[in-house]
Amino acid sequence: MTHKKPGLNTICTHVGELKDEQFKGAVSPLYMSTSYAYEDVEVKRYPRYFNTPNQQALAQKIAALEHGEAALIFGSGMAAVSTSLFAFLQKGDHVVLQKTLYGGTSNLVVEEFEKFGIEYSFAKDLSAEAFEHEILENTKVIYIETPSNPLLTVTDIEAVAKLAKKRGLVSMIDNTFASPVNQNPIDFGIDVVIHSATKYMGGHSDILAGAVISSEEKIDRIFQLAKNFGGSLSDYTVWLLERSLKTMGLRVKAQNENAQKLAEYLEKNELVQKVYYPGLASHDGHELAKKQMHGFGGMLSFELKDLDSQAFMTYLKLIKPSMSLAGVESTILSPAKTSHALLTPEDRAAQGISDKLMRFSVGIEEPEDLIADIEQALEETKKDMLDVRL
Ligand SMILES: *Cc1c(COP(=O)(O)O)cnc(C)c1O
Repeated sequence: MTHKKPGLNTICTHVGELKDEQFKGAVSPLYMSTSYAYEDVEVKRYPRYFNTPNQQALAQKIAALEHGEAALIFGSGMAAVSTSLFAFLQKGDHVVLQKTLYGGTSNLVVEEFEKFGIEYSFAKDLSAEAFEHEILENTKVIYIETPSNPLLTVTDIEAVAKLAKKRGLVSMIDNTFASPVNQNPIDFGIDVVIHSATKYMGGHSDILAGAVISSEEKIDRIFQLAKNFGGSLSDYTVWLLERSLKTMGLRVKAQNENAQKLAEYLEKNELVQKVYYPGLASHDGHELAKKQMHGFGGMLSFELKDLDSQAFMTYLKLIKPSMSLAGVESTILSPAKTSHALLTPEDRAAQGISDKLMRFSVGIEEPEDLIADIEQALEETKKDMLDVRL
């Protein structure tokens, strides 16, 4: 056989699966034990040591999905983010971060780092030059997130990875919005890849989890801190996440296709002011996205021209107004009222986030049904405006 590496959907379905030696069942057995023998064993197992059979099996699958050597599975995306950052930063160190980050990550940095004597700065824009400009003598880490929330900006992964290598820094990326289906940053030289597995990996809006993928050496360093911080994931949820990942390739491809169709439909609609989607030629990051992504993802944002977006969202029937993202069901939210509510209107405006902006997490429903839902909600919103005028 010359065929060596399994492809995406084969990794999703099989890599890391545990054999059911006893009953020959088709799926991995679930081992819920929190207590394992300590004598005559190779490994002293305990869930907080990230080394139960199900935890290790899932880590193997997730490492394979991101083309990395090893992985750790966490109890939340933020446990993965915080443990990774603190593993490479100590008192007196400095980190350069992208400005447009997931709100929880910005909060972690702004609310906690000072207490631990860790310095930070945010790059002024997304260019490698802007990141380089912020590097100090004590800088240890560069941290990016692409595509970003909610405007789907695209950062040049390879340029940042190269810069980090040149300056001897650890590069980290939050790869949640792309998922391992659409983007594999390790291929571009990134050191540490982080996911909120709550999103595309889980995919059904019913699991909270996180993951970190890197080299054996760096994963061991993160593990040394992780066992003390205690952010591991319960084996039952580990098992559910393995189940979810089997269909991740299929789900995310369907979401890519739907998002592309919806983005094109919205861009052509005369009631729509602007659409932000990396798969559109009109998007600032389109060329870069083509270079570094296998698909453009299931997330898009848009603004209506004259119609009230709050009213529009209340008229949607199929697309649910809801927090979070990346489930098989389509959801929509106003960043100004949710993820970015704590910013001042001026700060939001500086980031290009208007009060009219809606962030749309496109699901796997039939695209015709999603378009029909949008059409009827636009009609209802238009009627409202006419009523007000009369
Ligand atoms: C949701 C999210 C996180 C945080 O993950 P949790 O699982 O909620 O802790 C981090 N980064 C991004 C991009 C996210 O969307």
